[in-house]
Amino acid sequence: MSIELRQISKTFGGFRALTDVSVSVQTGELLALLGPSGSGKTTLLRIIAGLEQPDPGSGPILFHHEDVAQRKVVDRRVGFVFQHYALFRHMTVLQNVAFGLRVRPRRQRISRSDAHDKAHRLLRLVQLDTMAHRYPHQLSGGQRQRVALARALAIEPKVLLLDEPFGALDAKVRQELRGWLRKLHDEIHVTSVFVTHDQEEALELADRVVVMNEGRIEQFGTPDEVFHRPHTEFVMNFLGQVNSFHGRLENGRVHFASLAVDAPEHVGASPRAVRVFIRPHELGIDTERNHHPQMTATVAHIHSAGANVRVELTTEGDESLVAELSQDQFRMLGIAAGDAVFVTPREVKVFADARERLAGSG
Ligand code: ADP
Ligand code: MG
Repeated sequence: MSIELRQISKTFGGFRALTDVSVSVQTGELLALLGPSGSGKTTLLRIIAGLEQPDPGSGPILFHHEDVAQRKVVDRRVGFVFQHYALFRHMTVLQNVAFGLRVRPRRQRISRSDAHDKAHRLLRLVQLDTMAHRYPHQLSGGQRQRVALARALAIEPKVLLLDEPFGALDAKVRQELRGWLRKLHDEIHVTSVFVTHDQEEALELADRVVVMNEGRIEQFGTPDEVFHRPHTEFVMNFLGQVNSFHGRLENGRVHFASLAVDAPEHVGASPRAVRVFIRPHELGIDTERNHHPQMTATVAHIHSAGANVRVELTTEGDESLVAELSQDQFRMLGIAAGDAVFVTPREVKVFADARERLAGSG
């Protein structure tokens, strides 16, 4: 089941929660809606489900090329998992999942014993068949969300919608469930839309990512595209840590800190203010000057307890930088807090300064 939304807008009172949002989800794809709190992710998900109507004048909502805008929630055959999915406290795990099977439209309803057989199969799918007779309070948060997922799958949804399903769980459990959901999706291939504000979760889990900001789409692409080729300053900032600088574009060169690099084409040619971004892992550190463009800096702090080593630096111009090195690189460098070092950017992203565009001045 493919999904296509065209130019969807949504206003609550006088507030625009979505503006001209167009998204397409391919059959069997796992799509992530990624953005900060309030960016419109849940609103978009609820519009796909039919729980919310888009503003008049919005484009169609197509399920497999068919406009479902007038179709009711039950007829859209969507499965839903929320952050706090209220399982029925007085029902066992098995009964909770079987309940999902019994609430289908009348013509698809099945007998109690068939429902129980099927619920067992679904529990095996989410690897909880040994816990069928427990009650929700006897499960961990992660297990409860897997029951919620089994219940959502019970209606054999054409589309699975997940709204921050792991949002209330701790980091380690989230990480486990992420891998687990990806595997499950590869098995059942149901077209899925997954909402998260966690960039790592989106990048690791999704086939494609929609980056949202203030009710608009900033970028729509594969995890690699949005991470390595961000179209906007917002996307650059949101998808991982950055070092940022105010810079100046002049004669085809971008000047920032004490450096100058060739300007990318997209910022144009006329002199203007720009913003320059460098990811921590794109900063190289040397203890000696070499022929590359280098900034001089002092090592402020070293955080070496992790897979990689994070080095906090202070430049000559008193700007703070963070560089990320592998443990091997770090050992070979042999640096310590207080040392003077030379810092080389390997990859620099440049964006026209939005504020200058607004102010129209230089
Ligand atoms: P997200 O899921 O990305 O955090 P939401 O889609 O929940 O964002 O909300 C987007 C914006 O729309 C928020 O500013 C929110 O306050 C507003 N909003 C959402 N639902 C309603 C509603 N029913 N009435 C009024 N404002 C709403
Ligand atoms: Mg939300």
